[in-house]
Amino acid sequence: MQKIIIKEKFEQDWIRMFTHLANLFFEQSNIILEDDVDAIQASMSLERNSAGGLLGRSSLTRDGIDYFAEFSEIEEDGDAKVKTRQLKRIYSHIFLDVLEQATGMRQSWGILTGIRPMKLYHKYRQLGCSFEEVRQILMKRHRISRDKSEILSKIADVQLRAVPDLYELKNEVSIYIGIPFCPTKCAYCTFPAYAINRKNGRVETFLDGLHEEIREMGKWLTERDMKITTIYFGGGTPTSIEAEEMDALYETMYASFPNMNNVREITVEAGRPDTITPAKIDVLKKWGIDRISVNPQSYTDETLKAIGRHHSVQETIDKFWLSRNMGMKNINMDLIIGLPNEGMEEFKHSLAETEKMQPESLTIHTLSFKRASEMTRNKDKYKVADRATVEQMMKLGEEWNVANGYEPYYLYRQKNILGNLENVGYSKPGEESIYNIVIMEEVQTIIGVGCGASSKFIEPETGKITQFYNPKDPAAYILSYEESIEKKLAHLNTIFPVTVNK
Ligand code: SF4
Repeated sequence: MQKIIIKEKFEQDWIRMFTHLANLFFEQSNIILEDDVDAIQASMSLERNSAGGLLGRSSLTRDGIDYFAEFSEIEEDGDAKVKTRQLKRIYSHIFLDVLEQATGMRQSWGILTGIRPMKLYHKYRQLGCSFEEVRQILMKRHRISRDKSEILSKIADVQLRAVPDLYELKNEVSIYIGIPFCPTKCAYCTFPAYAINRKNGRVETFLDGLHEEIREMGKWLTERDMKITTIYFGGGTPTSIEAEEMDALYETMYASFPNMNNVREITVEAGRPDTITPAKIDVLKKWGIDRISVNPQSYTDETLKAIGRHHSVQETIDKFWLSRNMGMKNINMDLIIGLPNEGMEEFKHSLAETEKMQPESLTIHTLSFKRASEMTRNKDKYKVADRATVEQMMKLGEEWNVANGYEPYYLYRQKNILGNLENVGYSKPGEESIYNIVIMEEVQTIIGVGCGASSKFIEPETGKITQFYNPKDPAAYILSYEESIEKKLAHLNTIFPVTVNK
């Protein structure tokens, strides 16, 4: 625990902001008010410079050595919110600067502690800045490294090529359908996933509710003649249910949703290879669905055992080729950097195996210790790579993707992610997942149905976001899905009055 004294008095939300920044450098930090000999001492102030701009100054003392920083900006026009945002940015900038000097650590994401750096990028683009101008702003104002600003710029390029009307999709919606079952629960998992148990009848009753939700949302969409951009089946593992159950679900989807011919993409996660069978692939093909995810996570059997995935590496490889040979044209695979006991050797091996398959897209996640996972509860049991190794693996992943003809097309960060790194989705040109782009960049409303599905209602004019969560637990879902339907329809009616889209 690193204690830090900030001499000036700040409101709680500012203290939280400073704590987030300090946590980038120390395992856990605590901003304290009282004097403590072990604490780092910091001080920050703001004044006007000779040109009338805002000048922030900071100083920090650690182990008897003093560090100083300053940063100035022209004052922004706008309301109190705009002004507070600018002040927070200036203070973050100077606080991060002295922390970097005192620790010798460089934060490649600069002052950004949020999860969507791409959103910031698109905001500046929509304000009319050129690619180069945005890059300069990110580096100077937000202290993002050149490497990271370049990857953001590259991703924006790819996203706008894949979805040229990205900024105009606000009057369409995408649909997320959550199926909360998996063969077993993985140790790092915090998704709504329950080990499937056919004996208690919960799968059937859950599916009854899900059909009803799809029908009711479909009625609303049909009344508005609403266009659906993408549909995504996630979970859990949506292929955990039987082939006949999948068939019935897609039938209801096609019968209920309007404009199905215009849907740009339908994805079904088949993450756990142990759920993929020829009969299920036949069902997917019957309904014209050819984008799936088959997720190896690692190609080391011991790792799969340690994280509780209960399938072998060979099964992943076999199911990939089964899917491919039966006609799945767009297959995504996920790898995770930093799984227990894995270092460079294991990751190199995973990439070498991936190379043989050449999936259309590959997402490289960095392990994150989320509060609710078994792995976090028993953190001592799992030995994970250090920050430097994780960074090396990330770099290797980047190089491998370039060498194999993939481009980065979406990126997001998570809290408590190893090495403060990020998750990056790569794809072959033209094979990007449109759903991943629209959900990450929050450009349109996503209607979530099923267990644990989060709906994000985005007001087309203001961009204001309201979220609504369906219950994660199938038992709670069964009791409350009718109420959830009503609440979601109320939100939809507010943001899409009847005249829109006619
Ligand atoms: S397959 Fe995915 S959703 Fe299912 S338990 Fe594992 S991590 Fe969770």
